[in-house]
Amino acid sequence: MAPWPLWRLRAPALIDVLLTQAAAIGLVLPVVLLNSPPTRTEWFRFGMLGGTAAAVIIATSVTIHLRSGVRRDPWTVHIAYLAAGGLVLPPNLLVLLLLGPALHGVLDARPDPHRWLFVTASTTLAVFAARWVIGWEDPRWDPALIVLAGTTLLAVRALLVGIGLRLRDPGAPREDVVGEPIDVLLGIVAACFGGVLGMAVLREPEVAVLGAPMLALLDLAGQLPHWRRSAQRDGKTGLANALHWDRMARMELRRACARDRGAALLLLDLDHFKRVNDEVGHLAGDAVLAAVAVMLRDSVRKEDLVGRFGGEEFVVLLPHACPEVAHAVAERIRLSVAALSVPTRDTMGRPRELTGVTVSVGVSTTARFGYELPDLLVAADAALLTAKSSGRNAVTFA
Ligand code: GH3
Ligand code: MG
Ligand code: MG
Repeated sequence: MAPWPLWRLRAPALIDVLLTQAAAIGLVLPVVLLNSPPTRTEWFRFGMLGGTAAAVIIATSVTIHLRSGVRRDPWTVHIAYLAAGGLVLPPNLLVLLLLGPALHGVLDARPDPHRWLFVTASTTLAVFAARWVIGWEDPRWDPALIVLAGTTLLAVRALLVGIGLRLRDPGAPREDVVGEPIDVLLGIVAACFGGVLGMAVLREPEVAVLGAPMLALLDLAGQLPHWRRSAQRDGKTGLANALHWDRMARMELRRACARDRGAALLLLDLDHFKRVNDEVGHLAGDAVLAAVAVMLRDSVRKEDLVGRFGGEEFVVLLPHACPEVAHAVAERIRLSVAALSVPTRDTMGRPRELTGVTVSVGVSTTARFGYELPDLLVAADAALLTAKSSGRNAVTFA
């Protein structure tokens, strides 16, 4: 995700960030100031829980870094030990346990500190909401309440983080805002495991150590959606990369063929793109590619497949489109590209509004070329060359 500097947030997102952080601080301060000091047993439980979780996070971080991987927030481990702590620790030690997620952000030297501060504040509010459900001073060991508290923890955190992300970027893909089904499942597993860990720690604090392998597994599982996304998406545009698009397109074409539905393929190539790089700079070129990608995603239906084919080439499969519809979509895209105005900076760092980008589009349809992807691509490529040689900024059918 893009960096999240505070000064670049839109007003509603900024207000949301500030309110969430103020609410978290407003909750934490009285808890720290007004609660009586913890007992030795409570300190011991805290030490076993926090120590085990810290050891797991350090061990998995070292493993990931040794394998040159990029670490994602160990949120599943945080959820697990916070759920456990919520059951067995007094509120002031719970605050200390919340330093875990906060500390992680500091040690990780993130480029967008306000993002993790916001997520930490949301987590804090969610943990205290769950604690309130189960009983502020003395948690009640009622199974129904424990389930309700776990649900509160996950739901409040997801809601607060989701609202923040949506306000920050109203056009963000849904899965970036609410997470994927696996994220939801992992959250539930983490909260349930936290509940079991809490019960065990209440009887025998040393048992926390036995939870370490499960926490490590949870942590690595929490990285999976991120790794899968980076294997499937193109980093600069967020679109499907060529390999992933190819697989999806073949599947959609098989489906279209089986249902006897017409499909169409659009191959797009930005015109004279080298000039943008040469005249304004490669970063400006990248900004144009990203803007075109957003526009493409917004110009087609949900079931249409948009991918980055190569450098400044994009590809769109319309799995359910007659030639007339394909033509209308291609024309709409051509006009939208021509109307783009991309805010960027030139090589001297001066702000610059880039306009006048155009695109050539080659279109092939299953009605003429059948349902084999290579045949459709070859035909669309030939049509694209015709569009280029006939003056560019044009749509040509194969
Ligand atoms: P044409 O109208 O014939 O397509 O001209 P063109 O300049 O777009 O075509 P050409 O193939 O000569 O150049 C494509 C350029 O796209 C070359 C390369 O610098 C640029 N390019 C490819 N990938 C990227 C990228 O990821 N970022 C940037 N900034 N530029 C890229
Ligand atoms: Mg090209
Ligand atoms: Mg080009």
